Order: sequence, then C-alpha cells, then structure tokens
Amino acid sequence: MGNDELPIIECKDLVKIYDTGSVKVEALRGLDLKVMKGEMVAIMGPSGCGKTTLLNCLSGLDDPTSGTVLIEGTDLAKMKDNQKTDYRAKHMGFVFQFYNLLPVLTAVENVEMVLLLAGMRPKEARKRSEGALATVGLKGYEKHRPAQLSGGQRQRVTLARALVNDPKIVWGDEPTGDLDKRNSNEVMELMKMLNRTLQMTFLVVTHDPDVAAKCRRIIHMEDGKIVKDVPITDPDALKHPTVGSYSCRDEKDTGAARISAEQQKAL
Ligand code: ADP
Ligand code: MG
Repeated sequence: MGNDELPIIECKDLVKIYDTGSVKVEALRGLDLKVMKGEMVAIMGPSGCGKTTLLNCLSGLDDPTSGTVLIEGTDLAKMKDNQKTDYRAKHMGFVFQFYNLLPVLTAVENVEMVLLLAGMRPKEARKRSEGALATVGLKGYEKHRPAQLSGGQRQRVTLARALVNDPKIVWGDEPTGDLDKRNSNEVMELMKMLNRTLQMTFLVVTHDPDVAAKCRRIIHMEDGKIVKDVPITDPDALKHPTVGSYSCRDEKDTGAARISAEQQKAL
C-alpha cells in the first residue's frame, strides 16, 4: 500500500448479478476501471445502469459476483469483513443523496461519531469535527440538529462527516440530487477544493451535467458497462454516446470563495 504509481481504485472484469429467485438482474457486466490517486471522477448514465452497484462493489459495501476489486493494490476479496470495515472507517468517506444524519444528534455529534467509532479520544474528535464543520462553512452551527438546518446545510454536515477522517477516497452517490442549483454548486465547489488541496480521490455518481462538469473525468455507463471514459478537457466529455448531449452551463464558482485559509488549515 501507499505506492503512488498504483491506481488507488482498480477493478477487473467486474460482474454483479442480483438473484432475487425468480429473476436474475445483471447489474454489472464485466467492467474494467482504473482510478489514480487525486482524480475526481463523475459517473453518469441512465437510471438502473448499475452506478450505485458499481460504487457499492468498489467501496466494499457489497461483494461482486465475480471479478476483482483492488484498493491501493489490495484485493478486497482477500480482506476479512472487519478489515474492510476498518479500512472504510479510516480511509473512505461517503456522501449520499439522502443525508443519513441521525436526527437526535447535533451537527458536531453527527460528524464526530465516525471518529469515536474509529477509537479516537472524545476531545480530539470534537476538535477535528469542529474544524471539518468550519471547512464546509458551518462554523456556528455545531449544536444545531438536522431538523434545524436547511437541505444544503444538512448535506454540508454529511460532507464534513465524510472528510473528517481525512479519507483517501470519497464516494458520492448523487450527493446533490436533493439540492437546488445554488446549494448543489456550493457542495460541488467544496468537493473540488478538497480534491485539489488535499488530493482526496472522488468518485461521484450524478445525473446533473453541471455537477459532472466540475469533475476532471467523466465515465458514462450503460447497461452494466462503461461505454465512454473521457477527461473533462475533451469538449465531448458531457455527451453520452446514446443519451446524447447534455447542456452545460458555465456557472461562476461560489462555495470555495467562502472558505477562508484559516478554515482550510483547521482540517
Ligand atoms: P443506478 O444506480 O444506475 O440507477 P443500480 O446499481 O441501483 O442502478 O441498479 C442496477 C440494476 O440492478 C437495476 O436493474 C436494479 O433494479 C437492479 N438492482 C439494484 N439493487 C438490487 C437489489 N438489491 N436486488 C435486485 N436488483 C437490484
Ligand atoms: Mg443509483
């Protein structure tokens, strides 16, 4: 582990078949992918094409039917369940569409839970969590419960929770799916800032071409396979081979500007 030349994420001939008894669904049909450390990758494609399944298999939340997943060169299939859980707790962050915040906990408690579960001392965990909340622009909201926050603020708490353990990989499954344009932009700008300044690797599933346009590489999936994989510098990057062209507005950056250098240091 720790070799920068190795892809941080790699899968070979990945197949996932859901067998529900009467029907078998081939969600992934022999998929190959390499992601290098520090990349920011968007995954796009029609509903049901296997995006969530891919994320779940790559992050070790689910087991593929066949094929190999290597994280930092280590075969996930050779890791015991507790090793996978431990690796996830220490090195991965998750940002999903629905916030998955615990309603009875305050913002800072929701964030620090990850660290406490990983065995960090409470005082240190609180300090780090307050720093992470400041990084996402939520200084002063530490004691608010999810119900007292807007959708955008809740998703920023989720982002703070995802980054508080200083993860190597952050997985996003439609992280802005439930947000309006302005909040979606801010969350994406934050992710971009974390990607650029801290070299965190991001894999972000999205339907939104504006969200994808903030990434550096776009993978288009269809029917359990990758049908196109292009760097964002390519003018055709946002065009899906069969779905066609998406509109892509050139919106002004917003979120990152609100983060002071001091807040960034607090991470
Ligand atoms: P996406 O995220 O691109 O919308 P998914 O990965 O969720 O697609 O699903 C891919 C295919 O696998 C779909 O046909 C879906 O119905 C099926 N599927 C997903 N999860 C399950 C499951 N737990 N059991 C059975 N079929 C599933
Ligand atoms: Mg999905």
